[in-house]
Order: sequence, then structure tokens, then C-alpha cells
Amino acid sequence: MMFQFGPLLETAEFNQDARIAEARTGIKNYYTSLVDHKDENGNDPTFPKKINRRDVDHWGKFKGDFSAKQHGRCGYCEALVIGSQNGDVEHYYPKAEVRILDPHNPGREADHLSNVSGRKSLRVISTGYWWKALEWDNYLLSCTVCNSKWKKNFFPLEPADQPQEERARPARNVQEVPLLLNPLGNEDPVNHLAYELEGTIHGRTEMGLATIQTCGLWRPSLVSARRPILVRLKRRFDEMMTSHSDEVVRIHAQATFEEGQPDWPSFPGLTRIFFNQTTGMNWNELQQLVN
Ligand SMILES: [Zn+2]
Repeated sequence: MMFQFGPLLETAEFNQDARIAEARTGIKNYYTSLVDHKDENGNDPTFPKKINRRDVDHWGKFKGDFSAKQHGRCGYCEALVIGSQNGDVEHYYPKAEVRILDPHNPGREADHLSNVSGRKSLRVISTGYWWKALEWDNYLLSCTVCNSKWKKNFFPLEPADQPQEERARPARNVQEVPLLLNPLGNEDPVNHLAYELEGTIHGRTEMGLATIQTCGLWRPSLVSARRPILVRLKRRFDEMMTSHSDEVVRIHAQATFEEGQPDWPSFPGLTRIFFNQTTGMNWNELQQLVN
């Protein structure tokens, strides 16, 4: 669950878009004009939805670029988005506020619904990473459920064991290490996630664990969607590892290779992770078996 598509290069159209530039400047002016991070009425600031009477959300115009890179799939849960829902342009770094998840109350999927019950924030910081609101490398395509029900404005940081209640307001000049996997980033989910045959998901690392919790990747609807694929793959991988026939190994390797390609319609990230986890081989080694 989760495929490393790798970074998507910024387009000239985005780079030279006048409304993007205008919104970027307007947001910067708004935030730098705040005194003590309060708006003119002394309240916590809310992210400006309009600049000069124009909506700032021009990122939506570029959804197709991210959808093409991600083959229409949600960057977090790998569900096929395009064709069944509109899909969202998700901000990896939350632009408007930062929520810190209470690890004891991460919430659960409501029965037969996409809603989340019992999810609690340990703290809400009223200023987000506003300077990344119009940055190309802060976007990805996401399903509406991952974006608006689970990940929202949650954003875990390293180290996982720091008292998250003490987290400071995000600041431009402070280096932070996110604990959330980014499908358009440099971390391969293969190194961070693992599965049980019945469809449950585990973190191999703190980053994996935080990603699962933040995006609700353990939700029952995803567990049951993964189960039949894992069962089928396990049978194949067992045969691959024990067969004395080079041809049998090659055929299974070929099928696995195809199902782990970014344009494969169902869970190619899961296939790569489970292959590595079950056989101990990496993707390059599989590729050699195919050739
Ligand atoms: Zn999703």
C-alpha cells in the first residue's frame, strides 16, 4: 500500500503561472503582516482562501499532472481514484494548520461508512506550512477519504518519541524530518511497511508506523481489499522459492514484475512490499529473474 512513484518535475506552466505567483505573494504578505501570529482581530489566523478577491486554490488546475504520474491512484491508500471519484490535490505539508494525532485515539473506520470515529488530536497548531501552499513538490493526488477523513492536517515528525504536545509552530528556517511517507518522495515504502496474510499492515520503521496511523491504512475496508491479493501472492512466492524449475520461477517472476508496475490497476506498491518481505529479494533481483 503505497507506491514510490518518485518526484514529479515542476512544469513550466506551473512555474510561470501568474495566478500562482500572485497567490504565493498574497499569502506571504498576509502571514508576514501578522503580529504575534494573530489576525487583525486578535484571533488565530485562518489560511486565506482568497487573495485580491481571487481564490488561491489554483493547484487544482494541475491535478491531471499528478494523476498522470500516479496513474490515477491515491498516493496514500493506492485505491484507483480517477473514474470513480474526483480525487483531491493533497498538500503533503498541511498549509493551514497542523494537527498532532493522539496515538491512544487514532480513530477507527465507522461500520459500512468512510467516516472516522473517535479520532482525536493531541494538539492543533493554528499555523501550518503556509509557504508550501503553492509549492509544486508539496502536492500529490489523493482519494477524498485519505485526504479529508484521515490525513487531514495531521503531520507526524521525527523523533516519534518526542513529546508531540511540545511541538513548535512550523517555521521556514527550522529543519524538520517528516515521519509521513510521500509517494512522490525519495523514501521507498518497501523499507517501511509490511503485511500479514489476512490483510493487516505493520510498520517496519517509525515512519511506516506513523504513516499507517496518520492515513488510517489499517482501516478494515483496506484490509479486506488486500487479503485476496496477499493470499494469491503468497502462494506464488512460496512456489517461486521452492520450485526446481527455472521456467516456473521465470513465469512467476514475470507475473509479479507486471503486477508491481506503476500502471498496474490494483495495489502495485503492496505487491512490491510483500515480494520483498516474503522472499527477501529486492526489485532489481526480481527483474534479473525476468530477463
Ligand atoms: Zn486514499
